[in-house]
Amino acid sequence: MKIVPIASDSLGTRSMATYIETKDVRILIDPGVSLAPSRYGLPPHPIEFQRMNEHWGGIKKFAKKSEVLIVTHYHYDHHDPNEPELYKDKFALLKHPTEKINRSQKERAEFFLEQLEGIPERIEYCDGREFSFGGTKIKFSQPVFHGTNNRLGYVVEVSISSKNSKFVFTSDVEGPSVDEQASFILEEKPNIIYMDGPLSYMLGYRYSQASLDASINNVIKILRETPVEKFIIDHHFLRDIKWRERIKPAFDAADKAQIMTAAEFLGEKNDLLEARRRELYGR
Ligand SMILES: [Zn+2]
Ligand SMILES: [Zn+2]
Repeated sequence: MKIVPIASDSLGTRSMATYIETKDVRILIDPGVSLAPSRYGLPPHPIEFQRMNEHWGGIKKFAKKSEVLIVTHYHYDHHDPNEPELYKDKFALLKHPTEKINRSQKERAEFFLEQLEGIPERIEYCDGREFSFGGTKIKFSQPVFHGTNNRLGYVVEVSISSKNSKFVFTSDVEGPSVDEQASFILEEKPNIIYMDGPLSYMLGYRYSQASLDASINNVIKILRETPVEKFIIDHHFLRDIKWRERIKPAFDAADKAQIMTAAEFLGEKNDLLEARRRELYGR
């Protein structure tokens, strides 16, 4: 199984866009990319806009060769309603647009589906379902919280298995601090994980120390109870310049497994543009 993170916070934009290729099928998860409209009271720096354009170019390139496009929820860093042509003749597997969803995402889903009309070859709502493509199986979790509660709505997690490889993509769980989010990973027993880590850059106001501690405990549990070898932690977590020290007990618990960012998974250097925005502006 080939796994390519295309855009990510460790690569300088807000995204988890990932391409997966097995001998049976080519899949693109969450084709979207965005930037923080405001960080430290500053708008995105021109370098960030340039990076976002590069990443969107990469997403379009990988979309072209994919047969299946997955959207785990309706935030703009995970889908782009302005370029529905991306989905032309594809099999679109989408988070359910009206069930287990908050109001803002419901409105976005409705708009997105209007734009998509007549473009994909097929659309299915994927929550809690399984799809097979030859020897490759794509399994979706039941909707789980986007973060620590349902205020921001729900996401679906994705498990893709082929031969002896199993890859789990958590989408925006911001942790996972909630047991339902972790249990999908524990049950699937993947050997590669791409997880949205704790929202630690908002520690103390929108994310509690208790949530961070629960997330660390779940990461350690996953390290102990699954055969994970490569454990990618990225997205919300890489908006925190101190990300590494925030989950030190998890790094200490990883002996056989490697915890890494999406950039490191690709063999590239971390480039946390949003977290370093003040510096980009020379402040
Ligand atoms: Zn989101
Ligand atoms: Zn996101």
